[in-house]
Amino acid sequence: MSQATRTWTARVLTLFPEMFPGVLGLSLAGKALERGLWSLQAVDIRDFAEDRHGTVDDAPFGGGAGMVLRADVTDRALGHAIAADEAAGGRSPMIYLSPRGRVLDQARCRELADGSGVILLCGRYEGVDQRVLDARAVEEVSLGDFVLSGGEPAALALIDACVRLLPGVMGAETSLEEESFEAGLLEYPHYTRPAEWCGRAVPEVLLSGHHEKIRAWRRAEAERITRERRPDLWARYAGGDGAADRKQAEQS
Ligand code: SAH
Repeated sequence: MSQATRTWTARVLTLFPEMFPGVLGLSLAGKALERGLWSLQAVDIRDFAEDRHGTVDDAPFGGGAGMVLRADVTDRALGHAIAADEAAGGRSPMIYLSPRGRVLDQARCRELADGSGVILLCGRYEGVDQRVLDARAVEEVSLGDFVLSGGEPAALALIDACVRLLPGVMGAETSLEEESFEAGLLEYPHYTRPAEWCGRAVPEVLLSGHHEKIRAWRRAEAERITRERRPDLWARYAGGDGAADRKQAEQS
């Protein structure tokens, strides 16, 4: 089934389903959710516990602090989400939000937005029993090199980044194309009225109405900011191996 006939769906496995849609129920993502441009299913992992206490976690083998989400319970929750996804004609990737994962970037968000949706597993405590991740070949994705207390804020961030790329969600398509990372560069600075504020003027060129010059200025600023702040992105831009620096030298 094509993207046009099926709604992009996020299925989130969590011990805190009340955290969803949370911030995604407001503003751009919230309006799109209301309009049916995407859909959200929060799956309560606790519903898949088998004892009457609703036990989902246990102490780690080998000792140590904290608790670990049980493989059997987590696997049943995953199985449920996969079945629902397949029944809706989806083939969504399974992702465990984890600080050990590959750091999320715009390119991966684009890939995910182009698919049928995502199945997201949010860890709590020390994390999830490794065997369920191995058995289901779950991809691990990180938000960055820091530790959250749970996967939910990371899931919300990932979904937000994907939803705004879905057709019809953002008003002007062009504003996406010029954004940070889309061209491999960070974005140029923005200014709005008043033209002078606290003795600070807006760059002259932006008031000139000269579209070609404005484009060139913005491109130069994007390149300068990327070079200064993110040498890693700068090196990759224009082919890496210092190609970007050579390009810069040629231009100046
Ligand atoms: N003991 C783990 C951290 C557990 S934090 C470790 O040291 O790696 C609890 C949960 O928060 C994790 O299971 C994961 O789902 C989520 N989490 C923590 N940091 C994250 C990050 N940077 N990106 C995505 N998810 C994260």
